[in-house]
Amino acid sequence: MITEIINSNDKKAMQRAADIIKSGGVVAFPTETVYGLGANAYDDAAVAGIFAAKGRPADNPLIVHIENMNMIDDIAVGIPDDFYMLYERFMPGPLTVILHKNKKIGGVVTAGLDTVAVRFPRHRTAAELIKKSGCPLAAPSANLSTHVSPTSAAHVFDDLNGRIPMIVDGGECSVGIESTVLDMTGDIPVILRPGAITLDMLKKVLKDVTEQRRFGGADVVRSPGTKYKHYSTRAELLLTDTAEEANALYDAACGEGKKAVIIVRTGDAALCGNRGFFCIPDDPKGYAKKIYSLLRAAEISHDVIVCQRPELSGQGASIMNRLQKAAK
Ligand code: AMP
Ligand code: MG
Repeated sequence: MITEIINSNDKKAMQRAADIIKSGGVVAFPTETVYGLGANAYDDAAVAGIFAAKGRPADNPLIVHIENMNMIDDIAVGIPDDFYMLYERFMPGPLTVILHKNKKIGGVVTAGLDTVAVRFPRHRTAAELIKKSGCPLAAPSANLSTHVSPTSAAHVFDDLNGRIPMIVDGGECSVGIESTVLDMTGDIPVILRPGAITLDMLKKVLKDVTEQRRFGGADVVRSPGTKYKHYSTRAELLLTDTAEEANALYDAACGEGKKAVIIVRTGDAALCGNRGFFCIPDDPKGYAKKIYSLLRAAEISHDVIVCQRPELSGQGASIMNRLQKAAK
């Protein structure tokens, strides 16, 4: 299969992208978080094509993307009032909410669960593609299963060239890490996956909201994706706090004959001397935007990536959630 890359500003090509979706195919498209691989959420056979293209395990459910609130009643039932409060404050945006599923949504999207994940992306191209397709789009991140999520069309091409018919190029994603996943089907809302919308931000809107325990336990079953290897780089990834520690790990790797590279926060870059390094912004927001692209650049020609952790304020803890999984 030839994989075509189209520009998101090309109206005619965007219509062809929608035609692929309408005829049961898959298309990769930009969102503000990461690139997604979309198919008609009401068409189980089309959705199965997403799992096949990514090599994704069938028991890891997908997020259903909408472009207006009228679509929600065909996707979910028993929607709590709190959902609409979140809608007012955070949507469209990088927040995914788990609700009870409407029977119009088939079992392939939800991996057989009776709940469904819904997101209203902020990216104009995502909205346009959903609108032109005339249906909500089931879409996970557009990477090969277990690899780092893509934040550019080139990243998608690197993973899925020859496996999907089309990629819509809408430039670099502005957020850079996957959406926050909030389960609203229990007694109190629970964050299953942290993201750019943080616990502190949610607490300003919801009376009760909590975060899933980080490791092990029965809670893990609530978000099937969390049990899988995720976000992994093709080079060994080592995490450090300081540039000095990064230098020591880099020197040790080089001493073993390995090709190493450091990802260092810009403020500390001068401490790395003449070692090989990439700079990443000091602030967590800028760090989140660049981290996947730097990990992908670094893995191409290195055996070891030594990465300085982000500051833990703001989305820093959400980035750490991804880096810890990638470094396992
Ligand atoms: P991705 O879009 O690749 O980031 O994957 C979607 C994430 O949402 C995965 O971690 C899924 O396990 C999670 N997810 C999707 N649907 C559900 C659901 N119904 N219940 C819990 N987690 C879900
Ligand atoms: Mg993913």
